[in-house]
Amino acid sequence: MPHLVFHPIYSQLDLPVRHRFPIQKYQGIKDALLRENVSSDCFYEPEQLNINAISRIYDPLYIKQLCSGELDQKAMRRIGFPWSKQLIERTLTAAAGTVLTSSLALEHGKALNLTGGYHHAFANFGSGFCMVNDLYLAALNMLQSKSIDKVLVFDCDVHQGDGTAKLAANNNAVYTVSIHGEKNFPHRKQVSDLDFGLAKGTGDDEFLATVEQAWQMAITYFQPDAVIYDAGVDVHIDDDLGHLNITTEGVLARDQFVFAQCEKQGLPIAAVIGGGYQRDIDALVNVHMQLFKAAGVF
Ligand SMILES: [Zn+2]
Repeated sequence: MPHLVFHPIYSQLDLPVRHRFPIQKYQGIKDALLRENVSSDCFYEPEQLNINAISRIYDPLYIKQLCSGELDQKAMRRIGFPWSKQLIERTLTAAAGTVLTSSLALEHGKALNLTGGYHHAFANFGSGFCMVNDLYLAALNMLQSKSIDKVLVFDCDVHQGDGTAKLAANNNAVYTVSIHGEKNFPHRKQVSDLDFGLAKGTGDDEFLATVEQAWQMAITYFQPDAVIYDAGVDVHIDDDLGHLNITTEGVLARDQFVFAQCEKQGLPIAAVIGGGYQRDIDALVNVHMQLFKAAGVF
């Protein structure tokens, strides 16, 4: 039975008309999975993260100001959402979802969160729709386990995992790999343990060859005990933000490769859906569904 993490709040956020964040997609993915006859018993519901717990990892002043609505306008503009209580509840629940997913992955081998991949969140500021870095928190959560000494964050979203790279820079137990569009946001990149910047218009063959190369290098150099996988679909050819030309079949092949490798090497994997910004929600949900197909959820 698959182990999936979802909360209705993932899709609950009042945004200005024409805001480019596709808030409906999370519920859309859940509904599409139910239509594929995935049992509702497979879904786990996270509870909000405790603010005191994350303040030990992040800058406490940033967390305090974020949660109480005291960040200045410039800081909120960088995040890209208007502040609301709902935004904070959603953020803390979404990040908790990835932490829960990482625990389920250790217990069952693999687990998937129907949100996650808030990789532009730094210790003391948010950016690009990201406020709390769930990937890094999940990595730290996995490291609490006796059997886990090293965690690999394998980030295939079209945007560089800059916040994760910076948070993990001085942590020898968390390794970051980012495969992204070189011309995509963020324009000032951070240094991951391994970075692969792809040119505009890169297609399936080169993309998949890069994913395989990145994976082999990561396994050889870092020898991780567990994997956190950001399966962003903003690499897709129809994405409104991504500059790559990856087909739906290419996305499926990428995700199948990652799950197959983890299974072969006996590595627990916690996957998150990552970014994806087509305005056509049904089309977007279909691309995100490839991750669940690759994981054998349906
Ligand atoms: Zn992205």
